[in-house]
Amino acid sequence: MLTDSHCHLASHKFTASEIGNIVTRAREAGVTRLVTLATCLDDLHRNLEIAATHPEVKTCLGIHPCDVHHAPDGAIDVIRDHLHKPQVCGIGETGLDYYHPAPEGWTEENFRKRQRKFLDAHFTLAEESSLPVVIHTRDRSGHASLLDALDLYRVHARKVRAVFHCFIGTREHAEEIIALGGLVSFGGVATFKNASEVLEVATSLPSGSFMVETDSPYLAPHPHRGTRNEPAMIAVIANHLAQSRGESLQQFSSHTTQTAIDFFRGLR
Ligand SMILES: [Zn+2]
Repeated sequence: MLTDSHCHLASHKFTASEIGNIVTRAREAGVTRLVTLATCLDDLHRNLEIAATHPEVKTCLGIHPCDVHHAPDGAIDVIRDHLHKPQVCGIGETGLDYYHPAPEGWTEENFRKRQRKFLDAHFTLAEESSLPVVIHTRDRSGHASLLDALDLYRVHARKVRAVFHCFIGTREHAEEIIALGGLVSFGGVATFKNASEVLEVATSLPSGSFMVETDSPYLAPHPHRGTRNEPAMIAVIANHLAQSRGESLQQFSSHTTQTAIDFFRGLR
Protein backbone atom coordinates (compact mmCIF):
# COMPACT_ATOMS: atom_id res chain seq x y z
CA MET A 1 0.00 0.00 0.00
CA LEU A 2 2.62 2.55 -1.06
CA THR A 3 1.66 6.09 -2.06
CA ASP A 4 3.53 8.20 -4.60
CA SER A 5 2.51 11.60 -3.26
CA HIS A 6 4.09 13.57 -6.11
CA CYS A 7 4.51 12.71 -9.79
CA HIS A 8 3.89 14.36 -13.15
CA LEU A 9 2.06 11.85 -15.32
CA ALA A 10 1.16 14.57 -17.84
CA SER A 11 4.83 15.31 -18.49
CA HIS A 12 5.91 15.24 -22.15
CA LYS A 13 8.45 12.60 -21.06
CA PHE A 14 5.55 10.13 -20.75
CA THR A 15 3.57 9.47 -23.93
CA ALA A 16 -0.20 9.30 -23.56
CA SER A 17 -0.28 5.63 -24.61
CA GLU A 18 2.20 4.67 -21.86
CA ILE A 19 0.20 5.92 -18.89
CA GLY A 20 -1.84 2.72 -18.52
CA ASN A 21 1.37 0.63 -18.35
CA ILE A 22 3.03 3.06 -15.95
CA VAL A 23 0.07 2.81 -13.56
CA THR A 24 0.09 -1.00 -13.92
CA ARG A 25 3.82 -1.19 -13.16
CA ALA A 26 3.24 1.01 -10.12
CA ARG A 27 0.43 -1.28 -8.95
CA GLU A 28 2.71 -4.33 -9.39
CA ALA A 29 5.31 -2.54 -7.24
CA GLY A 30 2.70 -2.14 -4.48
CA VAL A 31 1.69 1.46 -5.23
CA THR A 32 -2.01 1.83 -4.46
CA ARG A 33 -2.26 5.64 -4.62
CA LEU A 34 -0.66 8.23 -6.89
CA VAL A 35 -0.92 12.02 -6.96
CA THR A 36 -0.14 13.67 -10.31
CA LEU A 37 0.44 17.41 -10.26
CA ALA A 38 -0.27 20.02 -12.89
CA THR A 39 2.40 22.66 -13.49
CA CYS A 40 0.57 25.14 -15.75
CA LEU A 41 -2.77 25.67 -17.50
CA ASP A 42 -1.50 23.67 -20.50
CA ASP A 43 -1.24 20.37 -18.59
CA LEU A 44 -4.23 20.91 -16.28
CA HIS A 45 -6.76 19.09 -18.50
CA ARG A 46 -4.42 16.18 -19.15
CA ASN A 47 -3.91 15.69 -15.40
CA LEU A 48 -7.67 15.86 -14.79
CA GLU A 49 -8.21 13.30 -17.54
CA ILE A 50 -5.54 10.85 -16.27
CA ALA A 51 -6.98 11.05 -12.75
CA ALA A 52 -10.52 10.55 -14.04
CA THR A 53 -9.43 7.45 -15.99
CA HIS A 54 -7.42 5.67 -13.28
CA PRO A 55 -9.13 5.19 -9.91
CA GLU A 56 -5.81 5.05 -8.00
CA VAL A 57 -4.71 8.43 -9.40
CA LYS A 58 -5.75 11.85 -8.01
CA THR A 59 -4.53 15.24 -9.14
CA CYS A 60 -3.48 18.63 -7.78
CA LEU A 61 -3.92 21.78 -9.86
CA GLY A 62 -1.55 24.75 -9.81
CA ILE A 63 1.07 26.85 -11.55
CA HIS A 64 4.69 25.78 -11.00
CA PRO A 65 7.01 28.66 -10.02
CA CYS A 66 9.03 28.09 -13.22
CA ASP A 67 5.84 28.67 -15.25
CA VAL A 68 4.53 31.88 -13.69
CA HIS A 69 5.91 34.06 -16.51
CA HIS A 70 3.58 32.58 -19.13
CA ALA A 71 0.60 32.01 -16.83
CA PRO A 72 -2.07 34.69 -17.31
CA ASP A 73 -3.07 36.83 -14.32
CA GLY A 74 -6.42 34.99 -14.32
CA ALA A 75 -4.84 31.52 -14.03
CA ILE A 76 -6.04 31.11 -10.45
CA ASP A 77 -9.66 31.69 -11.56
CA VAL A 78 -9.29 28.95 -14.20
CA ILE A 79 -7.97 26.55 -11.55
CA ARG A 80 -10.76 27.47 -9.13
CA ASP A 81 -13.38 26.33 -11.68
CA HIS A 82 -12.08 22.73 -11.53
CA LEU A 83 -11.56 22.30 -7.80
CA HIS A 84 -14.99 20.78 -7.16
CA LYS A 85 -14.14 17.75 -9.32
CA PRO A 86 -13.82 14.48 -7.39
CA GLN A 87 -10.41 13.62 -8.87
CA VAL A 88 -8.87 16.85 -7.48
CA CYS A 89 -7.14 16.24 -4.12
CA GLY A 90 -5.15 19.47 -3.62
CA ILE A 91 -3.60 22.68 -4.94
CA GLY A 92 -0.18 22.68 -6.62
CA GLU A 93 2.41 22.51 -7.70
CA THR A 94 3.22 26.03 -6.55
CA GLY A 95 6.23 27.46 -4.75
CA LEU A 96 9.43 29.41 -5.24
CA ASP A 97 12.33 28.46 -7.52
CA TYR A 98 15.46 30.58 -7.11
CA TYR A 99 17.58 27.96 -8.89
CA HIS A 100 16.66 28.45 -12.53
CA PRO A 101 17.63 31.77 -14.13
CA ALA A 102 14.83 34.23 -14.93
CA PRO A 103 13.38 33.76 -18.43
CA GLU A 104 14.17 36.17 -21.24
CA GLY A 105 12.73 39.61 -20.70
CA TRP A 106 12.48 39.16 -16.91
CA THR A 107 14.83 40.36 -14.18
CA GLU A 108 15.51 37.90 -11.39
CA GLU A 109 13.78 40.29 -9.00
CA ASN A 110 10.59 40.57 -11.09
CA PHE A 111 10.43 36.83 -11.73
CA ARG A 112 10.74 35.99 -8.03
CA LYS A 113 8.20 38.67 -7.17
CA ARG A 114 5.67 37.04 -9.54
CA GLN A 115 6.45 33.63 -8.02
CA ARG A 116 5.70 34.96 -4.52
CA LYS A 117 2.50 36.61 -5.77
CA PHE A 118 1.34 33.29 -7.27
CA LEU A 119 2.31 31.29 -4.17
CA ASP A 120 0.29 33.67 -2.02
CA ALA A 121 -2.67 33.38 -4.42
CA HIS A 122 -2.45 29.55 -4.23
CA PHE A 123 -2.52 29.75 -0.43
CA THR A 124 -5.61 31.97 -0.57
CA LEU A 125 -7.29 29.59 -3.02
CA ALA A 126 -6.48 26.68 -0.70
CA GLU A 127 -8.01 28.56 2.22
CA GLU A 128 -11.17 29.24 0.24
CA SER A 129 -11.53 25.68 -0.95
CA SER A 130 -10.26 23.82 2.16
CA LEU A 131 -7.67 21.99 0.08
CA PRO A 132 -4.02 21.30 0.98
CA VAL A 133 -1.12 22.91 -0.92
CA VAL A 134 1.99 21.31 -2.47
CA ILE A 135 5.04 23.58 -2.37
CA HIS A 136 8.26 23.43 -4.39
CA THR A 137 11.37 25.32 -3.27
CA ARG A 138 14.79 25.24 -4.86
CA ASP A 139 17.98 27.27 -4.44
CA ARG A 140 21.40 27.39 -6.09
CA SER A 141 22.83 27.27 -2.57
CA GLY A 142 21.47 28.06 0.86
CA HIS A 143 17.75 28.06 1.67
CA ALA A 144 16.41 31.48 0.58
CA SER A 145 13.41 30.09 -1.38
CA LEU A 146 12.52 27.71 1.46
CA LEU A 147 12.70 30.55 4.02
CA ASP A 148 10.61 32.89 1.84
CA ALA A 149 7.98 30.16 1.30
CA LEU A 150 7.98 29.46 5.05
CA ASP A 151 7.34 33.18 5.73
CA LEU A 152 4.26 33.02 3.50
CA TYR A 153 3.15 29.70 5.02
CA ARG A 154 3.30 31.21 8.52
CA VAL A 155 0.67 33.76 7.44
CA HIS A 156 -1.70 31.05 6.15
CA ALA A 157 -0.85 28.08 8.37
CA ARG A 158 -3.84 28.35 10.67
CA LYS A 159 -6.15 27.74 7.73
CA VAL A 160 -4.07 25.69 5.27
CA ARG A 161 -1.95 22.54 5.43
CA ALA A 162 1.08 22.53 3.15
CA VAL A 163 3.64 19.93 2.16
CA PHE A 164 7.14 21.08 1.27
CA HIS A 165 7.93 18.50 -1.39
CA CYS A 166 11.31 17.07 -2.37
CA PHE A 167 12.50 18.35 0.98
CA ILE A 168 16.24 18.99 1.28
CA GLY A 169 16.24 21.55 4.11
CA THR A 170 17.57 21.08 7.63
CA ARG A 171 15.92 19.24 10.50
CA GLU A 172 15.10 22.61 12.11
CA HIS A 173 13.27 23.75 8.96
CA ALA A 174 11.33 20.47 8.86
CA GLU A 175 10.40 20.80 12.53
CA GLU A 176 9.12 24.33 11.99
CA ILE A 177 6.95 23.22 9.05
CA ILE A 178 5.56 20.35 11.13
CA ALA A 179 4.91 22.66 14.09
CA LEU A 180 2.84 24.85 11.74
CA GLY A 181 0.72 21.79 10.89
CA GLY A 182 2.47 21.03 7.60
CA LEU A 183 4.39 18.11 6.21
CA VAL A 184 7.56 17.44 4.27
CA SER A 185 8.05 14.81 1.62
CA PHE A 186 11.15 12.92 0.55
CA GLY A 187 12.06 11.59 -2.88
CA GLY A 188 14.98 10.14 -4.79
CA VAL A 189 17.46 12.66 -3.38
CA ALA A 190 17.26 10.85 -0.02
CA THR A 191 18.88 7.83 -1.73
CA PHE A 192 21.76 9.79 -3.31
CA LYS A 193 25.19 9.05 -1.87
CA ASN A 194 26.08 12.76 -1.71
CA ALA A 195 22.92 13.73 0.22
CA SER A 196 23.39 11.96 3.54
CA GLU A 197 21.98 14.98 5.47
CA VAL A 198 18.64 14.55 3.69
CA LEU A 199 18.54 10.89 4.74
CA GLU A 200 19.43 11.87 8.31
CA VAL A 201 16.49 14.31 8.43
CA ALA A 202 14.15 11.66 6.97
CA THR A 203 15.35 9.17 9.56
CA SER A 204 14.89 11.56 12.48
CA LEU A 205 11.29 12.68 11.83
CA PRO A 206 8.33 10.98 13.53
CA SER A 207 5.89 8.96 11.44
CA GLY A 208 2.90 11.06 10.46
CA SER A 209 5.05 14.09 9.63
CA PHE A 210 6.25 13.14 6.16
CA MET A 211 5.30 11.44 2.89
CA VAL A 212 7.33 9.92 0.06
CA GLU A 213 7.29 10.75 -3.63
CA THR A 214 9.06 10.05 -6.91
CA ASP A 215 8.65 13.50 -8.57
CA SER A 216 8.75 11.36 -11.71
CA PRO A 217 9.78 11.69 -14.51
CA TYR A 218 12.57 13.54 -12.64
CA LEU A 219 14.95 12.57 -9.83
CA ALA A 220 15.19 8.78 -10.24
CA PRO A 221 16.57 7.20 -7.05
CA HIS A 222 19.96 5.53 -6.72
CA PRO A 223 20.99 3.24 -8.50
CA HIS A 224 18.75 4.48 -11.35
CA ARG A 225 19.93 8.09 -11.05
CA GLY A 226 19.90 9.88 -14.42
CA THR A 227 17.27 7.62 -16.01
CA ARG A 228 13.59 8.50 -16.48
CA ASN A 229 11.81 8.06 -13.18
CA GLU A 230 8.31 6.59 -12.76
CA PRO A 231 5.92 5.93 -9.83
CA ALA A 232 6.93 2.24 -9.46
CA MET A 233 10.32 3.54 -8.24
CA ILE A 234 8.69 4.71 -5.01
CA ALA A 235 9.41 1.15 -3.81
CA VAL A 236 13.17 1.80 -4.11
CA ILE A 237 12.88 5.05 -2.12
CA ALA A 238 10.60 3.47 0.50
CA ASN A 239 12.92 0.47 0.97
CA HIS A 240 15.90 2.76 1.46
CA LEU A 241 14.15 5.01 3.99
CA ALA A 242 12.48 2.14 5.85
CA GLN A 243 15.84 0.44 6.28
CA SER A 244 17.56 3.54 7.60
CA ARG A 245 14.65 4.13 10.02
CA GLY A 246 14.76 0.54 11.26
CA GLU A 247 11.19 -0.11 10.09
CA SER A 248 9.78 -2.90 7.96
CA LEU A 249 8.68 -1.89 4.47
CA GLN A 250 5.12 -2.66 5.56
CA GLN A 251 5.28 -0.38 8.60
CA PHE A 252 6.84 2.38 6.52
CA SER A 253 4.31 2.05 3.69
CA SER A 254 1.43 2.00 6.10
CA HIS A 255 2.30 5.22 8.00
CA THR A 256 3.37 7.21 4.92
CA THR A 257 0.17 6.19 3.11
CA GLN A 258 -1.97 7.11 6.14
CA THR A 259 -0.23 10.51 6.24
CA ALA A 260 -1.09 11.05 2.56
CA ILE A 261 -4.72 9.99 3.13
CA ASP A 262 -5.00 12.45 6.03
CA PHE A 263 -3.43 15.24 3.97
CA PHE A 264 -5.03 15.07 0.52
CA ARG A 265 -8.77 15.32 -0.10
CA GLY A 266 -10.51 12.10 -1.07
CA LEU A 267 -7.40 9.94 -1.43
CA ARG A 268 -8.99 7.15 0.66
ZN1 LIG B 1 7.01 18.33 -9.07
